[in-house]
Amino acid sequence: MKLYEFQGKALFKEAGIPVPRGVIVTSSDSSGLFAPSVVKAQVLSGGRGKAGGVALVSTIEEAREAADSILAMELKGEPVKALLVEEKADIIREFYLAVTFDGEAGTPLFMASAEGGMDIEAVAEKTPEKILKLPADPLWGVTDYKIRALADFLGIEDKRAFADLVRKVWKLFREKDAVLVEINPLVLTGSGLVALDSKIEIDDNARPRLKALFDEKLAEQAAITGAVPEEDSGTITYVPLEGDVGLISDGAGTGMLSLDLIRDMGGEAADFCEMGGLTSPEVMYAAMDRVFSDKPRIKSLLVVLIGGFNRMDEMAEGITSYVRDHKVSIPLVVRLCGTMEEEGKVIMKEAGLPVYDDLLTAVADAVRHSGEGR
Ligand code: GDP
Ligand code: MG
Repeated sequence: MKLYEFQGKALFKEAGIPVPRGVIVTSSDSSGLFAPSVVKAQVLSGGRGKAGGVALVSTIEEAREAADSILAMELKGEPVKALLVEEKADIIREFYLAVTFDGEAGTPLFMASAEGGMDIEAVAEKTPEKILKLPADPLWGVTDYKIRALADFLGIEDKRAFADLVRKVWKLFREKDAVLVEINPLVLTGSGLVALDSKIEIDDNARPRLKALFDEKLAEQAAITGAVPEEDSGTITYVPLEGDVGLISDGAGTGMLSLDLIRDMGGEAADFCEMGGLTSPEVMYAAMDRVFSDKPRIKSLLVVLIGGFNRMDEMAEGITSYVRDHKVSIPLVVRLCGTMEEEGKVIMKEAGLPVYDDLLTAVADAVRHSGEGR
């Protein structure tokens, strides 16, 4: 999940990292506008300054004009729907500071440069020696001597304030499961260091652990874009296909095999839907919901389950409760085996649903019910 600048700055503020005072406005006649100020487009892409998406204004008339013109812009294909209006900072120096992951080394990595501002990409390309890269230990974090090395490289005098800020950035990176926290520019003003921009990306895999954070930030984003916030699809992978045999499998390998078998038997799958291995009745239920809501016209549904870690009684519970809650009028072809197989079969039979032992027979029946096959 990428965050808008204002969302990242809210996290900075919470973490005790200084940011300018600011408000979000969505129209040029908003009473929130003030001057002198900086009017900034809120989009998920970078390079707004160069594209005209950041305006320094001195009067309220200028603020309105800037708001009007920026709200009419599209930046890298993204329409601007909100603006962050902030107090101007008197910049003495601009730095670049970021922490991300070094994929090759497999460690978190701090990056810093005294050439902060709008051209960091060019600095990285033309004068890479002007960017200091220091790996951080995932457990120990960024140690004092590394912070000193960063401060020396940047030529920062107030090392104590800088160390405090770097530690807060690291804490935020870890606690929010970020894959990127970037401050460009981090500026030195008369009253100390201030994060003038923010670019934060949170690992989507952290969603179950940071549910409140994801819910809040995604709802804010939806309010801006007018889109419905995306539901947590958990571990379900769903890919719509062209055919009419619905397919759900517990893992990807089983799913691929089943796709091939459906084709071999003369049928066409309507989707590829797998539950990510270890799963639960709720996920089984959600997978059925996903397939039926996207493909209401499938002619049969093939569910292929192999109980290794998964318990077949739990899978059967998910399937039968879905059938109880919804009108399912097409044939369900459920093949289950392995852990708690007998218990699963009892649950299916009590609900009046057939179960299959043999995979080939199951696939053949699912294809036959779809009116195709040999
Ligand atoms: P980006 O281009 O999308 O990265 O947007 P930034 O938020 O980084 O803003 C671009 C540039 O605008 C910064 O590098 C600063 O040089 C300038 N800028 C932003 N806010 C202020 C401010 O309060 N005062 C001054 N003087 N310049 C600012
Ligand atoms: Mg920037």
